[in-house]
Amino acid sequence: MIRILDEFIADKIAAGEVIERPLSIVKELIENSIDAGSSQIVIEIKNGGKSCIRVTDNGSGIVSDEIELAFERHATGKISKLSDLDHINTLGFRGEALASITAISRITVYSKTADSELGTKLKMQGGTTVSIEKTGMNTGTTMVVEDVFYNTPARRKFMKSDAAEATVIIDMIQKIAIYYSHIAFRLINNKQTVIATPGTGDILTTIQSIYPSYRQLIEIHGDYVHGFISDPGSTKSNKRGQIFFVNGRYVSSSTIENGIVKGYGDRIFSGHPICILFLEVNPETIDVNIHPNKKEIKFLHEEDIVKDIENAIKRVINSENTIPSAMGLR
Ligand code: ADP
Ligand code: MG
Repeated sequence: MIRILDEFIADKIAAGEVIERPLSIVKELIENSIDAGSSQIVIEIKNGGKSCIRVTDNGSGIVSDEIELAFERHATGKISKLSDLDHINTLGFRGEALASITAISRITVYSKTADSELGTKLKMQGGTTVSIEKTGMNTGTTMVVEDVFYNTPARRKFMKSDAAEATVIIDMIQKIAIYYSHIAFRLINNKQTVIATPGTGDILTTIQSIYPSYRQLIEIHGDYVHGFISDPGSTKSNKRGQIFFVNGRYVSSSTIENGIVKGYGDRIFSGHPICILFLEVNPETIDVNIHPNKKEIKFLHEEDIVKDIENAIKRVINSENTIPSAMGLR
């Protein structure tokens, strides 16, 4: 018998596609905070985000009579007509995230806009409103998500250990915080601050606030690439110091790695240099959908990208300003 699923079941299925693990929730909430124009975002997680994720921002806030609407599927304040799709400048626009999160957790929202005296506190569970009331608070939004997958035992079982879930969240926020260096991020994991960036817009100090051991970095510039690299004497045993963003998206790329290898050439004896690179290219010359989850990016003009990175690196490591290896990173 063919039947139309009731809304609650349909929401739980759709939620599974957007929300795979606590990491997905943290990502969606942070993206909403960025879209809201926040300059400060504080993220708190407990038990790897399984028992609690709290994201507080100082962004625009949500007007009180729209706050329940924000949790409906396809509810978005970001696009209203078809032509808006041609120039999206927000991270979200589908209006799926909050509907999905509320279907599989208990969520409490506090939100206030600048021109409202009081904020609104809304409690939801499994997609329905539990309570809604006025509350005193600063302008901005706090989302508290508790008991992730409490009503979907199969998904709950698939979550990894608290430490493993926390690790991927910390790793993702490190990258987001580097890219959005004009936003001050703070991440508190089980009451301990593990990330605190200044939010000044200065990329180098932001990188160093996240990775304090990356002391001496050299700035590079090419046609497509800019970023910060270590001198050839300061390598790491793994590639974790190689972080790439293409058009604002954190990606992995064998083409970029190739440019790095060629740029350093035989100046590297062992290990991998630190390279935090930002590339801006024509969006029509990249393909990011090759592996939906692996974020491996393909460039149409690979040779140009390799050359650009190679040259940009060679220019600084061969110049007289190069920091002597002995003073480099340990
Ligand atoms: P999308 O981001 O795709 O629009 P979401 O489900 O993530 O959809 O959010 C729905 C709407 O709720 C957003 O379009 C926005 O208007 C509002 N919203 C969500 N989070 C925030 C926030 N932190 N600050 C201000 N508005 C928010
Ligand atoms: Mg969103």
